[in-house]
Amino acid sequence: MVGTLEAGGSLLEEAGFLSFGYSILDAIETKKFGGELSEEVIRAVVAGYTGGEVPDYQMASLLMAIFVRGMSYQETLALTRAMADSGERYSFPEYVDKHSTGGVGDKVSLTSLPIVAACGAPVAKLSGRGLGTTGGTIDKLESIPGFSVDLSRERFERQVEEVGLAIVEAGELAPADKAIYALRDATGTVDSLPLIGSSIVSKKAATGAGHLLYDVKRGSGAFMKTTEDARGLAELLVRLSESMGIRASALITDMDNPLGSAVGNALEVRESVHFLAGDEVSEDLAHEARYVAARLLELKDVSDPEGKVEDALASGAAHETFRKFVRAQGGDADALDDLPVSGEVREVAAPRGGYVARFGASGVARAALTLGAGREKKGDEVDPGAGVEVLVKVGDEVERGEPVARLYGGRSAERAETLVREALKVSDEPVGPAPGILDSL
Ligand code: URA
Repeated sequence: MVGTLEAGGSLLEEAGFLSFGYSILDAIETKKFGGELSEEVIRAVVAGYTGGEVPDYQMASLLMAIFVRGMSYQETLALTRAMADSGERYSFPEYVDKHSTGGVGDKVSLTSLPIVAACGAPVAKLSGRGLGTTGGTIDKLESIPGFSVDLSRERFERQVEEVGLAIVEAGELAPADKAIYALRDATGTVDSLPLIGSSIVSKKAATGAGHLLYDVKRGSGAFMKTTEDARGLAELLVRLSESMGIRASALITDMDNPLGSAVGNALEVRESVHFLAGDEVSEDLAHEARYVAARLLELKDVSDPEGKVEDALASGAAHETFRKFVRAQGGDADALDDLPVSGEVREVAAPRGGYVARFGASGVARAALTLGAGREKKGDEVDPGAGVEVLVKVGDEVERGEPVARLYGGRSAERAETLVREALKVSDEPVGPAPGILDSL
């Protein structure tokens, strides 16, 4: 056998890791040469690493071998199961949830979930805070005065029954994924399909919703840069979820440009409320919110989902559900009509006339981050009123000097202005609108 640890005195043996005659070194050797790891080995490695018996350097070596050699579907599923089982697991088989792989100005949860709840499909969402770009859904909701994401499990479940929608901060779900993700981040092993797929699905399986829609973003402002890569991830997420007993589907959506106009926490809530209240918002946001809501209803076998979505919006039921949800979580629903945003505002003008070819999502996100809307590192304070509003979309005709963006927040506003200017590409030729939803599976 290659590389088995000598018996006697090894930490792994003391921890019982060698009980079936296999060591972490065997796992590394097997993977290094492209072999397959059994479910038993994968479980032992995950438990050993989470429990502190497998050191970082050996886990990092195994992750790099996985990165280079890949994993079979069975191995990926075993890793997903092992990480999902590493902490508390919720179970809400009747509820729906959605997961986005992360985008700029992504307010699809805030806009589509109240519609779904208003149509009678209960939504239980456990969500996270953002890192690296603008805030996550939790940061956005916390920009509403009084809003709390800290509900007991009992209150959370009662609220889903009574209001149809509750969103709380995910606590210690899938702690193995948290530890392994931190190591991947520090060892260049994040962008591996089986590692990403198992990481995402382990957390979703632990949150327990029985019906799940994945919104896989692709483009410059997303994790996956090409449609082909996004499709590969979407297929894997759906397959793993189905194997874990979750009814799932996926969309691939464009993230070369920000979604809608607002990028920043309170700004995004404000835009979402405008949409729910029937005010005009960017067509890309209005379309995607409706589409996602209809696909979620479809997962629950609701008939005529598109018609139900339109009814929930036109009757005001979706807007009222959002207000009830905010009130139930301690938020000031009346403040939603005029949510406080930063009073320090500056406009950015078009450097020349023409047609907007691109408003680069990653540049706009960096500008919003610079203004204080996101976290550069864990624990950084977020300014809820900071961010960027893009005033033009791909395909729009602009004149030189016309305002193309509004910046909110006093932190490094000049740097933010440069980033926004650089993100805007203007063409002499007319340009069609950005594609929005690229595929659905
Ligand atoms: N998001 C996750 O939760 N995990 C990954 O590995 C990548 C993105």
